[in-house]
Amino acid sequence: MTPRLRLQPEAVGVGMTSQRVRDRLVQRLREGGVNGGITDENVLNAVRVVPRHLFVDEALASRAYEDTALPIGHGQTISQPWVVARMTEAILAAQPKRVLEIGTGSGYQAAILAALGLEVYTVERIGELLRQARRRFRALGLNVRSKHDDGRVGWAEHGPYDAILVTAAAPALVEALLDQLAVGGVLVAPVGGASAQSLLRLAKRPDGSIEEQTLAPVVFVPLLAGTLD
Ligand code: SAH
Repeated sequence: MTPRLRLQPEAVGVGMTSQRVRDRLVQRLREGGVNGGITDENVLNAVRVVPRHLFVDEALASRAYEDTALPIGHGQTISQPWVVARMTEAILAAQPKRVLEIGTGSGYQAAILAALGLEVYTVERIGELLRQARRRFRALGLNVRSKHDDGRVGWAEHGPYDAILVTAAAPALVEALLDQLAVGGVLVAPVGGASAQSLLRLAKRPDGSIEEQTLAPVVFVPLLAGTLD
């Protein structure tokens, strides 16, 4: 299946957020930094069409196409585009249909996945962030299913998932999430301490065993317990 973009064309903005500015970000992702370039054209296309400036506060919109994480309030951040692209690339190899994300945040990562035609489920513990993300999905015509909950328990009802992305860091892998991963599926997650983590890619083999690979050093906000309104 060739992933298709499902964004409405009118969602594409102008000015500081013009297509040219986005194309420059795509070029930067293609070239990559010390951790290598993004080569999957479908992923690069998704970055090209999803309007990241609509996922941050208006005051930060002019910085939306820089390859950096940006604050989204409540002490949280929208992930760096390279990291979003790398995680997306890492799961696409498994040719997923149904995907679970833990840590909706701004909704940008979920939007990239939905733009690729994937069936997206996402869980966020901060109610206010989730409400904002839902407004963005609606405005962009993106079909993303979301839940306000502590995502460390996953979302068993709709599992198993062909891919799971954890976009907040924990000192150790959350075992409950691996249980909701389908055979042949891939889970990507930052694992490590508060200041730096390794982005891990775990693939579930047919015999149920796990193949682990380290993709890159990354910095994510922590995966926390419980929920907030
Ligand atoms: N994927 C997001 C990144 C947001 S930062 C984006 O594209 O913008 C990580 C998010 O994970 C934060 O919003 C944080 O509130 C959320 N988070 C942290 N612990 C969580 C948990 N246990 N369950 C669900 N979400 C969690």
